[in-house]
Amino acid sequence: MHKKAIFWFTTDLRLDDNPALKLAASTMDQLVLVYCPEESERLPSFQIGPSISANRHQFLIDSLIDLQNTLASMGQHIIICQQPVHSLSQIIENYAISHVYRSGGQHCLDSSSWDCLNKKYPSVKFSEIGGNRLFNAQHLPFELNNLPSSFSKFRRKVEKIETLPPESAITRLPNALIDPIEWPAPYQKTTDQTQMVFIGGQTAGLSHLDNYFQTSLASTYKQTRNGLDGMDYSTKFSPWLALGCLSVRRIVERLKRYESEVVANDSTYWIFFELLWREYFQWYGEHFGEQMVAFSGIKERAPTTSFYPERFQKWCQGNTPYPIVNACMKQLNATGYMSNRGRQLVASCFVHELALDWRYGAAYMEQQLIDFDLGSNWGNWQYLAGVGADPRGHRQFDLEKQTQIYDPKRQFIQRWQGHCNNLPLDSIDASDWPISTEISA
Ligand code: FAD
Repeated sequence: MHKKAIFWFTTDLRLDDNPALKLAASTMDQLVLVYCPEESERLPSFQIGPSISANRHQFLIDSLIDLQNTLASMGQHIIICQQPVHSLSQIIENYAISHVYRSGGQHCLDSSSWDCLNKKYPSVKFSEIGGNRLFNAQHLPFELNNLPSSFSKFRRKVEKIETLPPESAITRLPNALIDPIEWPAPYQKTTDQTQMVFIGGQTAGLSHLDNYFQTSLASTYKQTRNGLDGMDYSTKFSPWLALGCLSVRRIVERLKRYESEVVANDSTYWIFFELLWREYFQWYGEHFGEQMVAFSGIKERAPTTSFYPERFQKWCQGNTPYPIVNACMKQLNATGYMSNRGRQLVASCFVHELALDWRYGAAYMEQQLIDFDLGSNWGNWQYLAGVGADPRGHRQFDLEKQTQIYDPKRQFIQRWQGHCNNLPLDSIDASDWPISTEISA
C-alpha cells in the first residue's frame, strides 16, 4: 500500500543528522513537510508584549528560508500551518495520511496540538524519534525519573559514555503530496540583514562550525569563555543549536576531529563540558515539564521576591543603577544575544538587587534570545533564582567586583551605553508616595 506521511518540523530545521526525517524519508512513499509557528502561551500570560522579538523572528525566518531552499533542490517544500490542529486535520483527512513524525525533545510545554491530533486520529501512527541530544533515553545510566539532582552528579554519570554518532545528511526525499500553491506561500525575507550578527539556517550553521574549528579558538576556549563582547571568546553555536539548524552530535564529532588533528587540552574538554550542561537541561526540561515555569521551580518553597512593574521595565530597557547590567541588556535588545557571563549577572541582579519574580526575567529572555532553548533558559534561571538544580541554593554576584574582573576598563559598558542616570530605582515608595530626587539627594 502507498504510504503517506506528515513530517512536522519543530526545533530540528536541518537535513543533516535528522533521524526522525530520515526514518520518514526512507519508509514513506509521499511526504507532506510542515512547520507550525510556536504555540507558546507563556509569554502573553506574563504580559511582556509580542511573543518573540524581531531578532528572534528574523533568525527563525532565515532558518526556514534556508530549509525551504534546500528542500526545493530535492523537489520538496515546506508548508507553514498557523493553526496546527485545524490545518493538519485537513491534511490527514484529505490525503489519507497514515503516519505523522516529528523529532523528540523540547515539547514538554508545547505539546497540546500534537496530543490533540493523536487523540483525534487513533488509526494514524504518531511517532517521536530522536532529538538534538548526545544520548537517547536508553543510553542514560539512570531512569529519567531518577535524573541526578545536580549537573555535577549528572556529568559524572554520563561523561565516559560514548555519545551518539551523527547520521549522514539526507540527500533524497519522497515526493511531495501537496502542491505548494494550495497553501499559504512560504515566509519571505523582510528586513535588512546588515545589522544582524547571526544568520539563521543549516547552511550558515554548518559554515560557522567549520570556520570555528579552522581557527585555533577552541584551544583557548577555557581562558576566553567569560568574555562579554564579540564573536570569538566563545563558540556561538547556541543560536543554531536552539532551532536545530546544527546537530549537537555533529558539533561533538567536529570537536573530536579537532582534538585528534590539532590538540586535545583543557579548553577543548571544556567545550564538551558546556555541551553536557546543555544536555543536562534538555533532560531536566523533559523530566520536570510544567515545573520548569512554576514560581517555586523544582523546590518546595517559593522565593520571597515579587513583581514591581517599574523595576522590571527598567531592567528590560537597561536603565537600572547597575552599569554592567544595563550594558548587557542593551546588547541583548540590539542583537538578540548575550554572553553567558552577562546572563548570569543580569539574572542575579534581577533576583537579588531588584527582588523580582524570576519568571518574568526568564520570559523576557525567552522573548528576546535568538538562542532561546526551553531547558537551558528556564533551567538556568531556576538555578540562579535558587529554585533549581543548584546544590548551593543561593548565588548572588557582586556586580562591582564582576565589572572589575570582566570589564576592568569599562569598554563594554561604554560601547553599550550602560551608564546610569543616577535617578533612584523606584519613583514611588512603599506607601505609594513619589520619591523626590531633590529631597533624597
Ligand atoms: P559556549 O560558551 O561556546 O558554550 C558551548 C555550548 O554549550 C553552547 O552553545 C550551549 O549549547 C552550551 N552551554 C554553555 N553554557 C551553558 C549553560 N550554562 N547551560 C546550558 N548550556 C550551556 N543557553 C541557550 O542555549 N539558550 C538559552 O535560552 C539560554 N538561556 C540562559 C539563561 C541564563 C539566565 C543563563 C545564565 C544561561 C543561559 N544559557 C542559555 C546558557 C549559556 O549562557 C548559553 O548557552 C551561551 O552563552 C551561548 O553562547 P555560546 O554558544 O557561545 O556558548
